[in-house]
Amino acid sequence: MVYLMGTEPFYDNVEDPEDYIEEVCHDLYEVWKEALGTSHMPSFAVSHGYIPEEELSRQSLYARMADASEWHWWHRTNQDFVGSLQVLDWVDDRREWPYGEAYTGNAMTKSPYQAGITNFYPFLDGAVGYFFREMGVFGILFHELLHTYDAEHWHGATSTDDRTTVMLPEERGAEDKSCLFFGENYIRHPFVSPCTLSTVHSHIREHMSEV
Ligand SMILES: [Zn+2]
Repeated sequence: MVYLMGTEPFYDNVEDPEDYIEEVCHDLYEVWKEALGTSHMPSFAVSHGYIPEEELSRQSLYARMADASEWHWWHRTNQDFVGSLQVLDWVDDRREWPYGEAYTGNAMTKSPYQAGITNFYPFLDGAVGYFFREMGVFGILFHELLHTYDAEHWHGATSTDDRTTVMLPEERGAEDKSCLFFGENYIRHPFVSPCTLSTVHSHIREHMSEV
């Protein structure tokens, strides 16, 4: 199960936050289906209520993710929760922070640290930066979600029509290890390379018994 949940500042700054998260949840489901197919597909659900700001660090997005993971772990209503938690955050004064973070490969494990986090604030006026021009904030969320299912940056690839997978690293230098090849176009699209596909599917297969 993939849970989506907002932080308190996200709730404070987004109009109808739960409707918005429901929408994002539905879109994420559709994109997963499109990119990875329906076999081994997790269910998607919105975790209602928000994660209180007083529980969250202001040091880094990574620290907020750690705090959010722990908070959700202790407050989860489903004691059997083993899945992936995607946190929708809103940090308005840390523009130098990355847009998203995630624990790689912890989805569906016994670890309390199963989260990814995406900062929606920089996308207030639409997509920012270059890498996610096509996908915007939603691309970050999908990218972080796939990390939790063990997808890594070196899975990134550019297809023949110059589309770039959602896992392409921001820097070059990983060519030796690269799944396919790097083209010149860094515009990401919601599709994945065969490496991502097989990694995510085998991660889910391996951890099925823990669900
Ligand atoms: Zn990443």
